[in-house]
Amino acid sequence: MKLLASLFAKASAAALAVHLLPACGLLGNLNHYQVSDDATLGAEAYPELLSGETVISSGADHRMVDRLTQRLVAAARELDPVVANQFDWEVRLIEQDEVVNAWCLPGGKMAVFTGILPIAGDETGLAVVMSHEIAHATLRHGTERMTRQDLLTQLIEAGAEAYSEDAETKQQTEALASDAAHLLVSLPFGRDAEIEADTRGLMYMARAGYDPRAAVGFWERMSSASGSAPFELFSTHPSDERRIEQIREALPEAIRAYEQSLGSR
Ligand SMILES: [Zn+2]
Repeated sequence: MKLLASLFAKASAAALAVHLLPACGLLGNLNHYQVSDDATLGAEAYPELLSGETVISSGADHRMVDRLTQRLVAAARELDPVVANQFDWEVRLIEQDEVVNAWCLPGGKMAVFTGILPIAGDETGLAVVMSHEIAHATLRHGTERMTRQDLLTQLIEAGAEAYSEDAETKQQTEALASDAAHLLVSLPFGRDAEIEADTRGLMYMARAGYDPRAAVGFWERMSSASGSAPFELFSTHPSDERRIEQIREALPEAIRAYEQSLGSR
């Protein structure tokens, strides 16, 4: 809040706040990128992110990651065909025992680090993480966040221009405004997106025939493991209690879907 306070003081930008703050609430799930942009952005970033990594391409863990990803992607294609069918889904298992992380880029390009396997425990545990990551991609959280950043930057720049005549003050304001934009974008939206990805991910798991009840145990294990080290996976995460509480609320529907999927097998 310190940043925001000085921003407002320096630029006499109370009027800016009037524009800016309601805009955050109104943006909702606004995304001014096309679904095909997600695919392009992810495909461009993927080789860069994988370069220099040791990719594991055989063995039991590799087979497990491949199998569960295929099952989860098939579920995502069934439940969210409009977006999921436009993506060319891929996954790589990366040998880094100290990295407790997994990610999915916009457009469905994924990575799993070996460091998360002990916490996942088994295939169902790993399905909790991967379904969550796949849901970030189908819900298009990456380009949604980019949309917010673009719009906030435009608003703040317009505000700085309108409310400051003095060049030095204007420059300072813009620097602060950029920090403030990051603050506004990364915290609250990050948490909402995490909960949204958890909830949708449970439905993918269930549809793919993985017991969604495993999500509670998985996040509890992550929570005790993250006591010792900051994990990237948690950088914008909701508090563990709130996350687990929301998962419990979403479970009955996911369990029904799981039982149905078992019945149809
Ligand atoms: Zn997440």
